[in-house]
Amino acid sequence: MIEATGHIVVSPIGEIDPALCDFVGEETGRSFGFPARVLPLLEDVAFAYDSERRQYHSTKILEKLAETAPPQSVKVIAIATVDLFIPILTYVYGEAQLGGKAGIISTYRLRENPHSGAVRASLKDRAAKEAIHELGHTFKLKHCPEHTCIMHYCRSIDDVDRKTAGFCRHCRIMMEDEMKRLSRSAPR
Ligand SMILES: [Zn+2]
Ligand SMILES: [Zn+2]
Repeated sequence: MIEATGHIVVSPIGEIDPALCDFVGEETGRSFGFPARVLPLLEDVAFAYDSERRQYHSTKILEKLAETAPPQSVKVIAIATVDLFIPILTYVYGEAQLGGKAGIISTYRLRENPHSGAVRASLKDRAAKEAIHELGHTFKLKHCPEHTCIMHYCRSIDDVDRKTAGFCRHCRIMMEDEMKRLSRSAPR
C-alpha cells in the first residue's frame, strides 16, 4: 500500500502536465499545512459521462475518488481536463464533498480568456486557486461573500482571476478550527 499519512493527494486524471500537478501540490500544501503527493487514482472517468450533456458529472467522480483514496491521506484533489457539470449548473470549475475527503477541478474552462479584456492569468495560478477553493470545502468551508477571498463563488473566469489565493480572516478562523478538530481526532 502507498504510504500517504498526513498527505494531500493530488490526483491527475488523463494527460495533465506534471509541472501543473506539482504546482497545485505546492500551493495547496502551503495553504493547508500538509505535504502533497501526486498519485493517479482513476484511470478514466467514462463512468461519469452524460451522453446528452456531453459532459462529466463531477459528483460521481468525487464518490470514486473518496473510495479509492489511500485511507491515511487527509484529502484528495483531482485535476481533470474534461468538462464537468452538476445537474443544476451549466458547468463547474470544480466540486468538492463538503466536510468530506475529495475535491476535483478541471482545466477545461480555466483556459478561457477574461471577458473583461483584462490580462489573462496563467492556467497554473487559476488551477491552484480552484484547487484551494475545493479543498476548502472539504474542510467544511462554505462560499464566502468577500470577493477577494478564495472561498468566493466564481461565476466567470474574471471572478477567478479577481480573487486572491488566500482566505479572508473569517474563513481562515473557520478553517483553523476544523484543522484543530481533525488533529484531535486523528489516530496517533
Ligand atoms: Zn465552491
Ligand atoms: Zn472568506
